[in-house]
Amino acid sequence: MSDALSLTAAAAAARIRAGELDPSELWHGYRERAAADRHNAYVWVAPDGDAPGVDPAAPLAGVPVAVKDLFCTEGVPSQAGSKILEGYRPPYTATSVERLTGAGAPLLAKTNQDEFAMGSSTENSAYGPTLNPWDPARVPGGSSGGSAAAVAAGSAPWAIGTDTGGSIRQPAALCGIVGLKPTYGAVSRYGMIAFASSLDQAGTFTRDVTDAALLLGAMAGKDPCDSTSVGLPGPIELPSRADLRGVRLGVPEELTGEGIEPGVLAAFERTLDVARELGATVEPFRLPHAPHALAAYYLIAPAEASSNLARYDGVRYGFRADGVRDLLHMYTETREQGFGREVKRRIMLGTYALSSGYYDAYYGRAQKVRTLISDDFKAAWERFDFVATPTAPTVAFELGAKTADPLAMYLNDFCTVPMSLAGIPGISIPNGLSDGLPVGFQLAGPAFSENALLDAACALERAIDFRDAPWRRG
Ligand code: GLN
Repeated sequence: MSDALSLTAAAAAARIRAGELDPSELWHGYRERAAADRHNAYVWVAPDGDAPGVDPAAPLAGVPVAVKDLFCTEGVPSQAGSKILEGYRPPYTATSVERLTGAGAPLLAKTNQDEFAMGSSTENSAYGPTLNPWDPARVPGGSSGGSAAAVAAGSAPWAIGTDTGGSIRQPAALCGIVGLKPTYGAVSRYGMIAFASSLDQAGTFTRDVTDAALLLGAMAGKDPCDSTSVGLPGPIELPSRADLRGVRLGVPEELTGEGIEPGVLAAFERTLDVARELGATVEPFRLPHAPHALAAYYLIAPAEASSNLARYDGVRYGFRADGVRDLLHMYTETREQGFGREVKRRIMLGTYALSSGYYDAYYGRAQKVRTLISDDFKAAWERFDFVATPTAPTVAFELGAKTADPLAMYLNDFCTVPMSLAGIPGISIPNGLSDGLPVGFQLAGPAFSENALLDAACALERAIDFRDAPWRRG
């Protein structure tokens, strides 16, 4: 069985389809591994018992999937890493998860995350931090750190998460796996517990790029329950490209210099050389407003969060404080006890930024910066097919290293936030090690360029031939 657990999801699906692998064996193998997880990657694992019935002819052929806690799953705890949702079991399932189970991927487990997806290290979870399978003294990145750690450790074949400013790409980088954030609107947000609605986007954590294409193809699509969803212009093809002939890569000077660790930059340069060897042209250019992306993001995201999180008042979901005097006291005590520090910080920041008199100075200006960043990318697409950057400025850091310094934590998303503000797709692939820890390479493309992006990432992945991930060791 450990042999089957070392296959990529696409390879496992092919074996199931060929009648060479029993999907219930695969299910039990992963379920046992997930139940024995030592990285606190999971907040819920499917109970032991009969394997779910699957149709081997379905697109995902019975390969189980792990799902970030903030996706609503009917009758299964969905707590978004927060105490305020403790014990919440939604009466419905998120569209993206429905699509995956409908395509033949049963729900294996729910994964740990930063509370309401606010964070870059999964240390902000009310259910304890997740540990990085490469080194349990280090963080897996965040906010989807549980999904990243699960896939890296090999206790799940693949997983889904959400990315608002980097929460798929950055943990994928820190855990040495592939993380894809699709174009905003490609995947339905219906049933995703909201953080910042104009930025939140579901995406994939996988062992390789082919698996990312397979999983995205199954979950993407327009959904009548989410008016901002548009789906993708056509089906996702499995990537097959082995070269980059004719591909023009732009390297933004603003995101590839100051603030990036030397070991990360060295890996980045090596990958650019690989891209050149595969036939790509590589040229530096300017994304002049990118350095302002973090500041704009940390106004827009908290503003939207302060509004989205107003619904947690102790009346409807999960947790309610005991021993309260009256209705107002019930609200305030529930929120005081139910939210963690980072969430409270964001609610205060967002409420301030939206308050009358400050709206134009903060939220309004941040929205203008967002437009300028989008325009920078639009100009880039006239010259380039893709933009390349390191995914995260550093490799995985030690637990506790940045918890006392929110600004240092926010800098993790320096290279990923611009794409989020522009709503464009980005993928992180592992591109080597620095100090024995994995480094991620980010490729971003125009809106709805997923097929081309996956193809280019696939060509690079083959040439890089990264072989160190813990999941390979079983
Ligand atoms: N780290 C960023 C934040 O804390 C991004 C999180 C995310 O993408 N969900 O907001």
